Amino acid sequence: MTWQEYKNKLPKHYSENNLAVIERAFNFASEAHKDENRQTGEPYINHPIAVSLKIAELKLDPDTIAAALLHDVCETNGILFKKIRKDFGPQISFLVDGLTKINKIEYQGIERNAESIRKMFMAMARDIRVIIIKLLDRLHNLETLYALSEEKQKRIATETLEIYAPIADRLGMGNIKLKLEDTAFKYAYPAEYEWIIKKTKEKIPEREEYLAKKVIPTLKKELQKNNINIKKIEHRAKHYYSLWKKLLRYDMNWYTIYDLAAVRIVVESLEDCYAVLGIIHKLWKPLPGRIKDYISLPKQNGYQSLHTTVICTNKKITEFQIRTQKMHEEAEYGIAAHWAWEMAGKPANIKNMPHKKLAWVKQLYDWHKKSPKNTTSEEFLESLKLDFFENRVFTLTPKGDIIDLPEGATPIDFAYGIHSDIGNSISACKVNNRIVSLSHKLVSGDLVEVITQKNKKPNLKMLEYAKTSNAKNCIKSALKKTNRN
Ligand code: MN
Repeated sequence: MTWQEYKNKLPKHYSENNLAVIERAFNFASEAHKDENRQTGEPYINHPIAVSLKIAELKLDPDTIAAALLHDVCETNGILFKKIRKDFGPQISFLVDGLTKINKIEYQGIERNAESIRKMFMAMARDIRVIIIKLLDRLHNLETLYALSEEKQKRIATETLEIYAPIADRLGMGNIKLKLEDTAFKYAYPAEYEWIIKKTKEKIPEREEYLAKKVIPTLKKELQKNNINIKKIEHRAKHYYSLWKKLLRYDMNWYTIYDLAAVRIVVESLEDCYAVLGIIHKLWKPLPGRIKDYISLPKQNGYQSLHTTVICTNKKITEFQIRTQKMHEEAEYGIAAHWAWEMAGKPANIKNMPHKKLAWVKQLYDWHKKSPKNTTSEEFLESLKLDFFENRVFTLTPKGDIIDLPEGATPIDFAYGIHSDIGNSISACKVNNRIVSLSHKLVSGDLVEVITQKNKKPNLKMLEYAKTSNAKNCIKSALKKTNRN
């Protein structure tokens, strides 16, 4: 591909200056890869080009596009790194270096891979763009996975499902996460994939017709009557991998899958979101316990929407998701949507990252720095799995601040989540105005009030009740101190 052809494929909003950097990276990469081919038989340069165009689609800054073009250059020729540093400066070379390091680590299953995940998180904590490029690099590799041996296919696909898709999820990049999962699913579990495809072929069209002909017209009419401006109303079938995971959880019972295809409504304002929820509930009876307000209590990754499941026309159970356009974009692109174009050029460092949704990356980084020097990779992975990959519950302080904790967390974790001093001096706890024991398991929406007592010290029982590694570490170090005295 020539530079001119490439340039035509870029979105139009890059300035002449921006394009100059991208062009230099394009030429550098083309030259470096000129004698190489991919397993598919294509020229190697097609791969970095494809990755960089995916990056450009997310409207990321020119440095990130340049780094994407250069991301595999040092793989075969380490000497080139010095030249990249000299020609492109510290920002771009930092990104390229981070990607080269991540790529050097061979994956051998989640248990044995602790060290590589650790390195990835450290790179990510320093500059989140490293991982965004890595995710899109992985996506393109999956798209061309057919050319590799069966063994490699399986390894790369499994690694994607275990590590990269959850990371995309935590970064709020829902669109990338779904693409990674569905592409990897086929190679990681071929038989199951075939089975799901066959099953959904029978079920989904019928469901979609029902939504398109019965449900959506009724709803549209009612919304118009109430003067609600609909920006988008659509129904989308569930993605294969998430469907399969859900079926696994419900003993392969299709009758428990309500959201085989859900209706999504995009409206103009926050007020309209709640109004639409009210209108849906007036039309159809909601299922108790299935109304979820992720607008006032966003998910850990920043996801916002209202969800409800109702007994719909002809008694069919149907799920609705309601959100604004902004929430919609965030749900699809997550952190990348935030990596505002305006921020280009500013140092992309975790410390000045303004977004709340990155708080967990920072926490993880701080926690890693604070944890004892001799923490093994396995211990690190264990706490990662607990704090990072598990489902979260969102609890509230009396002032209304949200403390988000892993499932199964207790008032001890809550107290340490506020401050180690509060954790250390906890004596009792009220949840929703009732005294509970310190082993009480918190659920989302709980209003938690910690009662502290002066001179109170943590004890071994508390260690048993603690679920987060933060609380456990604090208790352990407090116990050590007491023992020394
Ligand atoms: Mn690559």
